[in-house]
Amino acid sequence: MTLTLIPDYDLSKHTWLGVGGKADLFAEVDNEENLISFLKNSQCPITVLGAGSNVLIRDGGISGVVLKLGADFQKIEITGDKVIAGAGAKLMEIAQKTAKSGLAGFEFMEGIPGTLGGGLASNAGAFGSCLSDLLQEVFFTDFRGNTKTISDFSDWGYRYSPYAHKGIFLGGVLQAKRFASSDEISALMQKYHEKRAASQPQGVRTAGSTFKNPKEGSAGFLLEKSGLKGYKKGNAEMSTKHANFLVNHGATATELEDFVNEVRSIVAEKQGVKLEWEVQCLGRKR
Ligand SMILES: Cc1cc2nc3c(=O)[nH]c(=O)nc-3n(C[C@H](O)[C@H](O)[C@H](O)COP(=O)(O)OP(=O)(O)OC[C@H]3O[C@@H](n4cnc5c(N)ncnc54)[C@H](O)[C@@H]3O)c2cc1C
Repeated sequence: MTLTLIPDYDLSKHTWLGVGGKADLFAEVDNEENLISFLKNSQCPITVLGAGSNVLIRDGGISGVVLKLGADFQKIEITGDKVIAGAGAKLMEIAQKTAKSGLAGFEFMEGIPGTLGGGLASNAGAFGSCLSDLLQEVFFTDFRGNTKTISDFSDWGYRYSPYAHKGIFLGGVLQAKRFASSDEISALMQKYHEKRAASQPQGVRTAGSTFKNPKEGSAGFLLEKSGLKGYKKGNAEMSTKHANFLVNHGATATELEDFVNEVRSIVAEKQGVKLEWEVQCLGRKR
C-alpha cells in the first residue's frame, strides 16, 4: 500500500498557533492497515500530528513525512462502561458522547481541543484528572510498524507519557469511573466550561498552557509574580487573562519560540525556577 504523499505541504493551517513551515511530505492515512503497511515500507523520519493544539511548528518545517490520522481513527464506540476510541477522535467528542451515555470521569476533557492521540502523548488532563486515570489499554506502533498493546500505566505522570515521540498511538480503551445521570455529568462539564471561560483567553491563537507546572507551584502564578501577565513583544504575548497562555497576534514561529525562551529566562532569574515547555516545538529552525 502506498499513501498519497503531498510534497511541500503547509503545516501552519493545521496548528492552533497558526505558524510553521512545510512538511517535506504530508499524508492523511485513513486506517490502521494502511498505516502499518506504510510504516513497514518506509525509511523516512515520521511525525504525527493530531489537532495541532499543543505544538509550535518551527518556520523551517518538518523533515520526512508528517501524518494525520483519518476517518477510521476518529471512531468512538461505547460498550457498557468502556469507550473504545481511535487516536484521531476528539477529546471533546469523547466527553460529549460519554455524557449522553451516563459515563462519568470524562468531564475534564471538555475544553481540551485535541485528539486522543495527542492527549496520550502528553497524558492530557485538567481539573485534577488526566487520561491515564481512565486508560485500560492503549494501542501503539513504533515508527517501523511494530505494534503493541500497553496496559500498564503506572509510570505515566503529570503531562508525561513514556511513549511520547517513540511512535504512534493508534487508539485506546478507556473505562468510566462510574455510571451517573447525564444531567449530573453535563452540570460538571458546564462548571468546567465556565471556569475556563472565566480564566483563559477565548477565540485567540494559543496552544493552551505554555509551561508545565513545576514542583514549586503553578507556572501561571510564577509568571504573574515575575510581572509577565500581559507581557508583549511584537506580536507575541503572554495573555492578560492567564499568564501561562501564549497568544499569537501574527508572530512567526521563531519569534514565538524566542519570546517564550525569554519569558522562561526571566522566571529563572526572578524566581529561581526553570520552567519546562509543555507545548511541543517540532521541526527545523529556519
Ligand atoms: C485553548 C486550549 C486549551 C487547552 N487546555 C488543555 C488542558 O486543559 N489540558 C491539557 O492537557 N492540554 C490542554 N491543551 C493542549 C492540547 O489541547 C492537548 O495537549 C491535546 O491533548 C493535544 O492534542 P492534539 O491532537 O492537538 O496534539 P498535537 O498538538 O497535534 O500534537 C501534540 C504532540 O502529540 C504528538 N501526537 C499527536 N498525535 C499523536 C499520535 N496519534 N501518536 C503519537 N503522538 C501523537 C505530536 O507529534 C506532538 O508531539 C489546550 C490547548 C488549547 C489550544
